[in-house]
Amino acid sequence: MTKRQAPTPKFLEQQQKMLEEERATQVALAERLLEEISQLNDDSGIIDSTGDDGFGEGAATSVDQDRDRALHGQAMGRIDEIDAALQRISDETYGNCEICGEQIAKARLEALPTATQCVNCKAGGLASRHRGGLGRRSAA
Ligand SMILES: [Zn+2]
Repeated sequence: MTKRQAPTPKFLEQQQKMLEEERATQVALAERLLEEISQLNDDSGIIDSTGDDGFGEGAATSVDQDRDRALHGQAMGRIDEIDAALQRISDETYGNCEICGEQIAKARLEALPTATQCVNCKAGGLASRHRGGLGRRSAA
């Protein structure tokens, strides 16, 4: 009943393309954010001399910087995930659930090319945990 649908070379090629495109997007985003962060750094020196509000001294700037740093961190994390997925493609382990080892559904991989777990495991594995009552008895 459990028929594994091994990913076809064509499917892998398509996923790799998606991953590479997203990687390029994320790299560009990360670079833009870094630039913005360094520009904000420059600005905060200038704003210092025009404090007409009393608290205009770069309070907003540091909020922007925090936001940009957080976004930059997210983009870098995403790039790591994409690199790991590309590595799995070249290792021929792409699409294997890291928890149960089953093939992750194609539709799921198409929606989320960096997915490392099948839907069951992602949901906590409730549907697939049928291990014959191990640990069922309360050990009082
Ligand atoms: Zn799984």
